[in-house]
Amino acid sequence: MQIIEFRSQGIYCIPGKFYIDPWLPVDRAIITHGHADHARSGMGSYLCHRFTTPILKIRIGEAIQVQDVDYNEPININGVEVSLHPAGHIIGSAQVRIAYKGKVVVVSGDYKLQDDGLSNPFELVRCHEFITESTFGLPIYQWESVENLNKQLQDWILKNQSFGKTSVFVGYSLGKAQRIMRAVAGMAPIYVHSSIARLNKAYESVGIVLPDYQTVDLREDLKHIDKNIVILPPSLVGTNVIKRIPHMAYAICSGWMAVRGARRWRSADAGFAVSDHADWNDLLRVTTETGAEKVYVTHGQTAVFSKYLNENGILAEEVKTDFGVEKEEALMNENEAI
Ligand SMILES: [Zn+2]
Ligand SMILES: [Zn+2]
Repeated sequence: MQIIEFRSQGIYCIPGKFYIDPWLPVDRAIITHGHADHARSGMGSYLCHRFTTPILKIRIGEAIQVQDVDYNEPININGVEVSLHPAGHIIGSAQVRIAYKGKVVVVSGDYKLQDDGLSNPFELVRCHEFITESTFGLPIYQWESVENLNKQLQDWILKNQSFGKTSVFVGYSLGKAQRIMRAVAGMAPIYVHSSIARLNKAYESVGIVLPDYQTVDLREDLKHIDKNIVILPPSLVGTNVIKRIPHMAYAICSGWMAVRGARRWRSADAGFAVSDHADWNDLLRVTTETGAEKVYVTHGQTAVFSKYLNENGILAEEVKTDFGVEKEEALMNENEAI
C-alpha cells in the first residue's frame, strides 16, 4: 500500500490528502520547519509545530491560516494519524510521522543529532519508510562536538581581542545566528543585524531565552561596536556596508567550512563548520536505526548517499524535490532567503 507519492507540487500523502513542505501552492500543507525552501507562501492552510508558527508569520505573513501542534501530539487527518517529532535542526523543526492501516512513514525534513541547546533534541522514530535529506551525505563531513566548536569560536574572539579587532560572524539568520550568540555569550557585547533580530523575536515569543544583544544598523556610526561581537547574515558578505565595520576580522559559519577549499572562500579570516544538518555518520545512523525497509533521499548528496545505502543493504531511492541547500549554507549564492 502506497501512502506517500512524489508529485509536482511536493511530497503528498495519498489517504490524508495533504502535502509536506510543498513547493507549489496547495490546499493543505504540513511544514517541517521555517527555512525558506521548506516553508513557502501560497498554501491554503499550514500545520506545523507551535514554535514554527511565529516564524511562518514573520516570513510569509500574519494573515496565513495556521494550525499548530506540540511534539508527540497525534491528530487525525482524513483517517491518517499524523504526529510531529523533534528533528533537532532549528527551532520548531519536526519530523512528520504518518501512520495509516499499520504502516508508518516518516518525513524527516532537515535534521541533526547534535544538541545545540536551542532546538528540541532529535527523536528517533521507527518506521517502514523514511524520507531523508543528505545535505552533508559525504564521508568527508564529520562534525566536531558542539563544545569543541564553541571553544573554537571563543578562542578566535580572544585572539581578535588581543589584536584590538571586532569579531564578525556570518551565519544564517534562522538557526545559525542564535547558535553563535549562545556560543559567544559573555565575551563581549553582541550586535546583530536587523534580519537576525527579527527572528530572535520569534524565539523569544515562544519563551526561548537568548543572550543579551543589540540590533546594529550598519549605515549608522559604528564606533560603539568596535572590538565587540557582530553577527550578520550571509547576504551582506562582499557588500560595502560590511566594510564600514572598524578593525574587522570575519568568520563564516557553515557546514561547508569543514572542507579546506571552502574555508578560503572569499578570503574570510576564519571558517567554522557550524551546521544544522546531520553529518555523514549521523545520516547513516538515523537511516539504519529507523528500521526503515525503504529510504527516499530528497536533497543534498542524493546520488552518493542512496548508492551507499543500497550497497549496504538498505533499499534507497533518490527523489527529485525542490528542497535546496538552505541559502545560508550556499554562501556562494549571496542571496539570503528572507
Ligand atoms: Zn532547513
Ligand atoms: Zn532542507
